[in-house]
Amino acid sequence: MRLVLFGAPGAGKGTQAERLVKEFGLMHLSTGDALRKAIREGTELGLKAQGFMDRGDLVPDAVVIGIVKEALKAPAAQDGFILDGFPRTTPQALELEKFLKELRLDLTRVVSLQVNEEELVKRILGRKAQSKEGRADDDENAIRFRFKAFAEQTLPLKKFYQDRHLLTEINGAQAVEQVYSELKAAVVGD
Ligand code: ADP
Repeated sequence: MRLVLFGAPGAGKGTQAERLVKEFGLMHLSTGDALRKAIREGTELGLKAQGFMDRGDLVPDAVVIGIVKEALKAPAAQDGFILDGFPRTTPQALELEKFLKELRLDLTRVVSLQVNEEELVKRILGRKAQSKEGRADDDENAIRFRFKAFAEQTLPLKKFYQDRHLLTEINGAQAVEQVYSELKAAVVGD
């Protein structure tokens, strides 16, 4: 199964990806996690990304595309993968399509987790209150910026994948278990 998990900040992509990884042993690539790791380690990539991330803006396409290509070339990706938080722009989606074609692979499904904005803000602020380290982009201004980036740059991808008959929408406001069971029903067999 070669899956894209799609959804607004706080929609639960990471939580659901973790479950799929546990059950199916797929490679999981979260571009957000990869960027945060690069920042922690102080790499050149991290330095490039930090300003954008802290204010809740998207990191330039070329930076994230580089990360994804590296990961997809790895042998671990050949048995299936989950992309979480990528693609987030049309150029990223086009580049992914082109790159997978070169690898003679294609996506098997794009699952969109649908959650309304009020619930999303509640979740992100709840996550912030619980975590000790905290994310720089979990303050209210940055959250607003992340939603704006999502609405303007990422939402158009739903149509992009609908046109390719790859999109399945799931109500992500339900309990984690229920979301997972619907997600599994959508992807198993792919
Ligand atoms: P969330 O979905 O909750 O915003 P992520 O961990 O997926 O959390 O992303 C955090 C930040 O990382 C984004 O706001 C953005 O700055 C950066 N980022 C992650 N993935 C991408 C991507 N595909 N393109 C551009 N920026 C990205």
